[in-house]
Amino acid sequence: MDLARTDLYLDGRWVPASTDRTLPVHNPATEQVVATVPAGTAADVDRAVTAARAAFDGWADTAPAERAAGLDRLHAALTARADDLARTVALELGTPLRIATRVQVGLPLTVLRSYVDLAARGPAEQTVGHSLVVREPAGVVGAITPWNYPLHQIVAKLAPALAAGCPVVLKPSELTPLVAYLLFDAIDEAGFPPGVVNLVTGTGPEVGAAIAGHPGVDVVSFTGSTATGRQIAHLAADRIARVALELGGKSANLILDDADLATAVKVGVANAFLNSGQTCTAWTRMLVHRSRYAEAVELAARAADGYRPGDPFDPDTRLGPLVSAAQRDRVRDHVTRALADGGRLVTGGPDAPLPERGFFVAPTVIADVDPDSALAQEEVFGPVLAVLPVDDDAHAVAVANNSRYGLAGAVWSADEQRALRVARRLRTGAVDINGAPFNPLAPFGGYKQSGLGRELGTFGLDEFLQTKAIQR
Ligand code: NAD
Repeated sequence: MDLARTDLYLDGRWVPASTDRTLPVHNPATEQVVATVPAGTAADVDRAVTAARAAFDGWADTAPAERAAGLDRLHAALTARADDLARTVALELGTPLRIATRVQVGLPLTVLRSYVDLAARGPAEQTVGHSLVVREPAGVVGAITPWNYPLHQIVAKLAPALAAGCPVVLKPSELTPLVAYLLFDAIDEAGFPPGVVNLVTGTGPEVGAAIAGHPGVDVVSFTGSTATGRQIAHLAADRIARVALELGGKSANLILDDADLATAVKVGVANAFLNSGQTCTAWTRMLVHRSRYAEAVELAARAADGYRPGDPFDPDTRLGPLVSAAQRDRVRDHVTRALADGGRLVTGGPDAPLPERGFFVAPTVIADVDPDSALAQEEVFGPVLAVLPVDDDAHAVAVANNSRYGLAGAVWSADEQRALRVARRLRTGAVDINGAPFNPLAPFGGYKQSGLGRELGTFGLDEFLQTKAIQR
């Protein structure tokens, strides 16, 4: 199968990029180049934004039912490609195929379905005294996305933006652009008006920065690292453009003394190692009451050992490689430093066996981690779990909140009221009690340096609407 792509999607059709330069796409399990995609330029961004601006009035005026019908056609076109999408994510990111199917493809299909329904309803108007308050599309959206959930992160921006009446210019991660191409094949098939959805591939400093800084982009919706988010906010600030930022995390899993320990640890380890730990909401700090700490460390080690690294296409594989050599090296450095900082290696670590090729890191559990050390403070983005003892609920909350991030978290307790009291005190955008399932309509986003704004459900729509008061 020839996976190379040479075109960008601009103004409703596939067209060549403005240069012949390309970027390689790797299979992180074999380290081989599997495809190339165009290295787009600021000129390509300009073409895309011009097309999107020209499409704005028409799309903004399109009836909600028609916008919903477009999203519904896209849902059908993506569903028809579900196997290809999952295989592509397994190939370019290394997510084990079973997890790619269930999470990397299943999740965005669920999210897209929710926006078919929300788009059909249209934004609610309300009367406040003698004012009519209306919600209108915010304008052209620039969407910049990372590689770790490459389809979901695009859909979480594209679906609400289109539902709200905003055209979109997308730049996917240069590490995982192939799944974006499949998405745009589906978009082409679904048939949106020209200019409503545009794809420009390329690097962050070239294409991403051109989108964030473009005077024709009204909203910049970004998911990625906190460092890049800060640069994007600076670029948007010059023209007071709106930004929505979904950034990093260092989430805590609080296991209280009355928790079902076996379940809490098993689910906690699975959460920390999902997608090889390359998950922004991963519960990377496990905080356990001292009375159950030794037992929890032992259970965590046993659970971690079940995550055998291997070929993402092997049905038995539970842990794929990291996305790139650079990412693998960063994670290894974190482990080395954590051990030098006094962490106790419980399982995994630098000397654990690994497949001969591929950007793998062994599933690693480090106990007795100092809450102020780098491993407890910095986002690792690899299969590395830090376990820390805590004295009581107040101490657990203090340690959990001792972070510049605030994206997600978990609380486990036999007493739901007690868990709820703890959850309310966590400074994070989301908390799961006792392994509650994902809710695609609940707001998703961060406190503190984990971001600005919210995605999913009606909260995600709000990022792409502005509010007008008409007095009469
Ligand atoms: P990244 O910030 O390096 O890249 C994200 C995107 O921004 C890519 O498309 C990249 O090309 C682009 N980019 C890079 N430099 C840019 C610049 N100067 N101007 C404009 N665009 C630029 O992040 P990454 O390594 O792709 O992703 C990993 C990070 O994403 C982690 O920190 C993770 O926590 C975070 N993340 C957050 C969420 C969330 O919802 N909060 C979800 C997934 C990932």
